[in-house]
Amino acid sequence: MSDAGQDRDHDEPRRERPYDRRELRSAPSLVLVSTGHGKGKSTAAFGTLLRSRGRDWPTACVQFLKSGKWRTGEEAMLRQLGVEWFSAGDGFSWDSTDLDESRAKAVAAWEFSAGLLAAGEHRMVLLDEISYPMNWGWIEVDAVVAALRERPEHVSVFLTGREMPQPVIDVADTVTEMVAVKHAFQQGIRARRGIDY
Ligand code: ATP
Ligand code: MG
Repeated sequence: MSDAGQDRDHDEPRRERPYDRRELRSAPSLVLVSTGHGKGKSTAAFGTLLRSRGRDWPTACVQFLKSGKWRTGEEAMLRQLGVEWFSAGDGFSWDSTDLDESRAKAVAAWEFSAGLLAAGEHRMVLLDEISYPMNWGWIEVDAVVAALRERPEHVSVFLTGREMPQPVIDVADTVTEMVAVKHAFQQGIRARRGIDY
């Protein structure tokens, strides 16, 4: 009878073992997701945009929920670094015959984003807070998944927001869930300029 401890060792995940780098392959692009209830989803994505711009990649950000704060710190700085910045509500044309204004803006932002992905002019596109309009039924999850699957192969996409729909998680390569161990807001501290926006 084999030693139980040894059996457990055999069942350890592969990360415990050194892997042969020659087995790794390179991918022309990736789909990344940050989700969960903890802080850091958008900031992780902004950090990735820094890297993309650091490699001179044409890079874009589409914000699905326009922050109430006029011109956030990240927008000011990433625009300076050459990130093309779009927010739902400004710049897109939309006609709201039967949709309310926020919904129409989100739909227009999605149509714009789908065009951006398909055009293939960017190597990194951030769709910030896109989970919310999907979860509210404003944007079809299937349409987002199809746009990700059919994107030009050099276009990487970073999607953020709480409760990212499972089909998007399924199509992504890298998914991180931010866990709120603590948040200042829970202690009654309001969002801080320079840290939160
Ligand atoms: P950040 O933009 O700071 O990375 P986030 O993208 O993870 O945050 P969002 O859900 O987009 O989080 O929240 C936007 C705002 O809410 C930010 O000011 C953020 O600091 C704050 N926030 C994030 N997580 C929490 C939380 N668990 N409780 C309260 N406020 C939060
Ligand atoms: Mg966010």
